[in-house]
Amino acid sequence: MATLLWLQAGACSGNTISLLQAEEPTVVDLLTDFGVELIWHPSLGPELGEAVQAILADLVSERKPLDIFVLEGTVITGPAGSGRMDMFAGRPMTEWITELTNVASIVVGVGDCATFGGLPTVPPNPSASTGLQFHRGEIGGYLGKDWVSKLGLPVINIPGCPAHPDWISQVVMAVATGRAGDLALDEYHRPSTLFTTFTHSGCTRNSFFEYKQSTLEFGQGTRTGCLFYELGCKGPMTHSSCNRILWNRQSSKTRAGHPCLGCTEPNFPADDLMPGTVFKTVKVSGVIPKDLPTGADSLTYMAAAAAARISAPQWSREDMFVV
Ligand code: SF4
Ligand code: SF4
Repeated sequence: MATLLWLQAGACSGNTISLLQAEEPTVVDLLTDFGVELIWHPSLGPELGEAVQAILADLVSERKPLDIFVLEGTVITGPAGSGRMDMFAGRPMTEWITELTNVASIVVGVGDCATFGGLPTVPPNPSASTGLQFHRGEIGGYLGKDWVSKLGLPVINIPGCPAHPDWISQVVMAVATGRAGDLALDEYHRPSTLFTTFTHSGCTRNSFFEYKQSTLEFGQGTRTGCLFYELGCKGPMTHSSCNRILWNRQSSKTRAGHPCLGCTEPNFPADDLMPGTVFKTVKVSGVIPKDLPTGADSLTYMAAAAAARISAPQWSREDMFVV
């Protein structure tokens, strides 16, 4: 058995709701087949008040071992470093986080807020929020860049707003069955298996992307065209498996006609949500997208775009999906 504690810091519970939809494996599979002993979870644990304090005290004092500590939500350190904007079980949540990460064998950050700080870190960041081991793209965050768990691992990050249910359940399954050391992590501590390809990889709109054909509307009725050129899709520069491991086993944002917002990247939300940057492609000189697909340079991009538009076949301008 592997004991698991899940806490929420500055969180909206989105990742908890996401986890409950997991299919491969499900939450029940984790508990019955993969040896997870859920010590407590704020939405699922029946204990309240002093009973929760007693559970946490047992873990902090190591009377009960803590194998996996999962945090959802941003780490709120304000005001003035006291952490008192986020009180939990009689203390600032930051104090629980410090003590629980000291005793946990493995620490997992779930969702963009716990991993990179998320939406609350947008300037002026009045709650002085940060991620567990990153502050947006900078390593450090609340625990510091050199922090490692008792097992010698950094925080394992599963970003997303929310993280895909199966990303969470598959990583929990791996660490609960003793394979944490087998997880290759990228520079932002994301498991490479899930975060090497792009949202763009596997998107059904790829043929329209290639011929630079844009859609101008949101929604499922707009199956023709790509969301990159006008609607700010960040699929070509966002590392995620959203179009390989589909949401609800059948769809994704871009398949449903909604641009990828880049929620698995440390700079999310991009451009700090400045007016004119959300659901819009920010352009340089009114023509070239400011953010180009990862690896592309602007000169090559412009030449390729011009050639693609000229050579675009008629079908790329039509809705060819009949079912
Ligand atoms: S909609 Fe986004 S993810 Fe899909 S092809 Fe266009 S740019 Fe790529
Ligand atoms: S499609 Fe983009 S914004 Fe949506 S969940 Fe995936 S990475 Fe996040």
